[in-house]
Amino acid sequence: MSIQENLKNIKSSIPEHVTLVAVSKTKPVSDIMEAYHAGQRIFGENKIQEMAEKHEDMPKDIEWHMIGHVQRNKVKYMASFVSLIHGVDNFKLLKEINKQAKKHDRIIDCLLQIKIGSEDSKFGMTPSEASEIIHSKDFSGLKNIRITGVMGMATFTDNKVQIKQEFELLKSTFNILKPLNTANCKLQTISMGMSGDYPLAIDCGSTMIRVGSSIFGSRNYN
Ligand SMILES: *Cc1c(COP(=O)(O)O)cnc(C)c1O
Repeated sequence: MSIQENLKNIKSSIPEHVTLVAVSKTKPVSDIMEAYHAGQRIFGENKIQEMAEKHEDMPKDIEWHMIGHVQRNKVKYMASFVSLIHGVDNFKLLKEINKQAKKHDRIIDCLLQIKIGSEDSKFGMTPSEASEIIHSKDFSGLKNIRITGVMGMATFTDNKVQIKQEFELLKSTFNILKPLNTANCKLQTISMGMSGDYPLAIDCGSTMIRVGSSIFGSRNYN
C-alpha cells in the first residue's frame, strides 16, 4: 500500500485525542513529502543531523520531533526549530536544552523518558529520578524548557502481557507526576506505542504514538 493509504488507515483507526508522529528516520524527503501531501505535519527523527537537514529542505510548517537519544553537544543543531524532544533522560541534558533555547529566545517542549523496557540498551530514568528532577530547585530556574509529558519504549518482545505492564508503568508514572503543575512543568502527553504495539499503547492511555514502518515501510540502515 502507498504511504498515503497507510496514513489514512492508521489515522482512521486511532481516537482523535491521540497524536500521530510519523517516524521518518532513514527515509528520503520524497517519501516524507508524500505523507506531507496527505496532510501529515508531525514527523519524528532519531538523528539530529538528519533532522536538521530535512528541516532545511522541507516546508516550514512541519513540526519536527526528536525521538532518539540526544547527545548534549548536538542540541545546538536543533534548538532553533525542534518542536518536541521526546528522549530527555537526565538533568544535564535538560540544562543544555534550556541554554540553547534561550539563545533562540524560545521555550522548547520536552518529554522525560522513563525506562519501562527491560533491555539494558533502552535509555531512560526511573520514575523517582523523574520526580526528583521536577521537584528540584535547579529545575524551577529553567525558564526556556517546558516538560509536557513522559515517553517510554516497551521491550522488544512478543509477550503482550509484559508490554502491557510496561505501558501501565508509564501511565502510572504520568499520573503520579501530573499534579506537579508548575511554570515549566505541565504534563499532558504520554508518548508510547510504535508500529507493532500502538493499539495496545492507546488502550493503556497513550496520547501520542510514534509510527514508522507501518507508514513508510521497513527501513534499510545501510
Ligand atoms: C524508530 C522508532 C519508532 C518507530 O518504530 P516503528 O516500529 O518503525 O514504528 C518509534 N519510536 C522510537 C523512539 C524509534 O526510534
